[in-house]
Amino acid sequence: MSFSISGIGISRSIAIGVVHRLEMEAVEIHEASVPKTQVEDEVARFRRAIRSARQQLKAIRNSIPASTPADITEFIDTHLLMLEDTMLTVAPVELIRQNLCNAEWALKMQRDALARVFDEMDDAYLRTRMDDIDHVVTRIQRLLLGATNSTGQNDSEQLQGSIVIAHDLTPAETALLHHQGIAGFVTESGGPLSHTAILARSLGMPAIVGTHIVPSQIRDGETAILDAGRGVLLADVAPSTLKSYRRKQREQEKRRGALSRLKLAPAVSADGIAIRLLANVELEEDVRAAREAGADGIGLYRTEFLFMNRSGIPDEEEQLSQYLSVVKALRGLPVTVRTLDLGADKGGCTGEGGVERLATNPALSLRAIRLCLKNTELFRPQIRAILRASAKGPARIMIPMLSSASELKEMLELIDDLKQELTQEGTAFDPEIPVGGMIEVPAAALSATLFARKLDFLSIGTNDLIQYTLAIDRVDDAVTYLYDPLHPAVLRLVRMVIDAGRQYGVPVSMCGEMAGDVRYTRLLLGMGLNEFSVPPTALLEVKEVIKQSRIGSFEPLVGEILSSDDPVEIAALVGALNDI
Ligand code: PEP
Ligand code: MG
Repeated sequence: MSFSISGIGISRSIAIGVVHRLEMEAVEIHEASVPKTQVEDEVARFRRAIRSARQQLKAIRNSIPASTPADITEFIDTHLLMLEDTMLTVAPVELIRQNLCNAEWALKMQRDALARVFDEMDDAYLRTRMDDIDHVVTRIQRLLLGATNSTGQNDSEQLQGSIVIAHDLTPAETALLHHQGIAGFVTESGGPLSHTAILARSLGMPAIVGTHIVPSQIRDGETAILDAGRGVLLADVAPSTLKSYRRKQREQEKRRGALSRLKLAPAVSADGIAIRLLANVELEEDVRAAREAGADGIGLYRTEFLFMNRSGIPDEEEQLSQYLSVVKALRGLPVTVRTLDLGADKGGCTGEGGVERLATNPALSLRAIRLCLKNTELFRPQIRAILRASAKGPARIMIPMLSSASELKEMLELIDDLKQELTQEGTAFDPEIPVGGMIEVPAAALSATLFARKLDFLSIGTNDLIQYTLAIDRVDDAVTYLYDPLHPAVLRLVRMVIDAGRQYGVPVSMCGEMAGDVRYTRLLLGMGLNEFSVPPTALLEVKEVIKQSRIGSFEPLVGEILSSDDPVEIAALVGALNDI
């Protein structure tokens, strides 16, 4: 009998492969007492589990190609370091001895104690995210419970070409799975704008998120079809279905081949308007994909990856070397380095700049520029590193989540201070480095002229702009159905930003996912947007639409769209615009 499950499709392509379920069920731990005479056996069992956990992690790390960027492998090192820490290796042993209980229960007690005091701890390793501690503890618990493989040593080979099914994946795990050659993945939780989904899109990896549940009938080892365009996973399918999907896959391949011919073609509309097409990158390796797609540069370099899933903060030199490799790989094309946007769905960070973990609404809390201005120790090395990298090639600084004039002023003063510092030291940088801001908070869009007057460029971050305008959590699949880039309020805010840029002669780009979705390309062109920053995998499709567009003829329909407040009418008008 065939099965299908549906969720939110990411990347629109098709993957066919063998199912590999990552352990999804929460481990259930029960308390059991251990007779005094067997306590040392129990301690030995616990120590064996710790040793096996280390071996598993080392095996995974060794199986990753040497060329893998350090930001991906670092989270494994973080977990390995945790496995050396006495808080996880010694404390549970004491608990076993004191309470005469089983190792699983002792480890659970220790985990709960750590969770309670987590924020106050001084230990450098354990100050990393609680998520990381939980991953390590779960690994040990599974080993104690007798698990041998799926997070273990055979992973790399088993994963090649497979469709991974998991309850959830962190962005770092997603990047690692990509390196291990998976064909695609399905997660029970997550929304289309989570960092994990954005990464999958950027890597061109077919995925489905937010399926809520993946029934156990979809078993490890069986062949499944992941149709990201339709957001469905099909298992146990008839040979004829498999055949027809293989044909579709070949057609998609052909279409990609045809699109690649546009790589060197200029992004100029059919009526002669030149559009700047930039790429969004998360990892250093995406830069290659951006170049291969013929991008005019990088319009959004999300630097969070450098800071996530690791112990400690990368210092100025480490950041400089990363930014320099990106500048170098771009060979003269500009890179827009977005300063740290940690917090909310991007996860926490370690050290002095830790995100307030107890925030009731993390997306409204100390995130991005707010976090950086509160923790200038976190911000200064990054700005210095970007400035220093600008000596070697065109770089721009882009500030996320701006919402007020005072933030902008403080940030511009800080950049000036650091420029002076570098000048005094005799360190080279581009004194004219453009500084821009992301418009992703409704307050910033409504007062876009304020930002346009003071900044060199603006970039509309629709992922957050939509989240904050419509009051929907971008990663909560329960409200994904309300996520609507065509909501009249969103369109009017976007238009305000474009108009503010025009009024002050400041370039306006869009780097949210809306910019890379061809359903909206014509509308955005008609609204006057002439710079798009999109995932490398979407770039050629957007270019194709641009080349087929007579932007001058869009005016009447776009006018009607912007003055309508009827969603059904707006959708119909956008459809008509796309059919011209
Ligand atoms: C956005 O909010 O649209 C954006 C591009 O930033 P991020 O998705 O990284 O928050
Ligand atoms: Mg954002």
